Amino acid sequence: MSFERIQEKLKILADAAKYDVSCASSGSKRSNINKGLGDATGMGICHSYTEDGRCVSLLKILLTNYCIFDCAYCVTRKSNDIKRAAFQVQEVVDLTINFYRRNYIEGLFLSSGIFKSADYTMERLVAVAKKLRLEENFNGYIHLKSIPGASDELMKEAGLYADRLSVNIEIPTKEGLKLLAPEKNREDFIKPMLKVKNEIIQYQSEKKIIKSTPTFAPAGQSTQMIIGASGESDQQIMWTSNYFYKKFNLKRVYYSGYIPISHDPRLPQIGTDVPMLRENRLYQTDWLMRFYGFEVHEILNNEHQNLDLDVDPKLGWALRNMAHFPVDVNKADKFMLARIPGLGMKSVHKILQARQFRNLNWDHLKLMGVALNRAKYFLVCDSRDFERRDLTGPQLKSIILQNTTSKYQNILSPQLNLFG
Ligand code: SF4
Repeated sequence: MSFERIQEKLKILADAAKYDVSCASSGSKRSNINKGLGDATGMGICHSYTEDGRCVSLLKILLTNYCIFDCAYCVTRKSNDIKRAAFQVQEVVDLTINFYRRNYIEGLFLSSGIFKSADYTMERLVAVAKKLRLEENFNGYIHLKSIPGASDELMKEAGLYADRLSVNIEIPTKEGLKLLAPEKNREDFIKPMLKVKNEIIQYQSEKKIIKSTPTFAPAGQSTQMIIGASGESDQQIMWTSNYFYKKFNLKRVYYSGYIPISHDPRLPQIGTDVPMLRENRLYQTDWLMRFYGFEVHEILNNEHQNLDLDVDPKLGWALRNMAHFPVDVNKADKFMLARIPGLGMKSVHKILQARQFRNLNWDHLKLMGVALNRAKYFLVCDSRDFERRDLTGPQLKSIILQNTTSKYQNILSPQLNLFG
């Protein structure tokens, strides 16, 4: 195979892979063994993100962009008139090793269109990971996309060689999936996810008894949802996330704003803006659910089915629940401190520690690095200077917005004018 042909395949298959954002490598603890290649030890060693949050440090490619399916939202769908290509297993192995040696990448993110069948495709993805680990002694990060409908045996093998596995749900609701990918079935996503979850649990418990038990998908599993392709509300999206986090112990759910790629009446038309800000608000909500103790129904419910775009979800929640504020930073528990807009968990822990020794005032909070520009409206402390407490949620929102600059200002300005 000529160098030009490999280069051409790489161009086609790397470009096709850019729509998948579920490739962060955090959480893996694979260390370098037998003086092999690479090391995915520790948090963050293998990933970096572009400005819009997409991961760039892995070799991120499809094995092939041939596909027997015709999912309307996907550039790889069989009815799309695009250039097609397919790598041989050995070609992906060679590329990974060559790129790794040149320091271009720290790992591999390998996905694929489904050619012939789910198992036929999955077998080849597994073969890449197996060769890298066993023949090349590669200890860098490997994220394999699991093919919906692949057999349990292949999923089990995949987990023995990959750090992370993911099956993309793609469309957040069953109705949306039926509309845009009628050949697909939610069960096909759920079965491999369940298999991976059960294997992780089993391997972990065996390892407690037999130390030499290999690790199974040490960085866990993740999934991705496309946002804005099927008219779903943020409430539906976050309930779906919540379900998958809880039911399958997912490490991460990724939200990918739909990029209009086809003239299909079922989809937003070409030229429609990619919902980047909405994507960002969903990530923030996801974070609040995982680390701040928020439940979905607190942020999104039947009265409030979509996230505010002009304020972050924690501030939005606080402005709708002014009766909970102000919070006394010298008395409140961790749960309520974490709900003060502008206060991150680091600040919460600093406050909890520091107040064991003294009552805290504005100066103490400032010295601790607490961002008071927002927080000051929602807390009281040991100080004689008070912010106004007689403001309604909408009034306070308007004051905060006047003093805020956002990197999404251009997207927001038409909406902010409504509050002018
Ligand atoms: S099965 Fe996957 S690759 Fe194929 S068209 Fe559907 S989303 Fe795209």
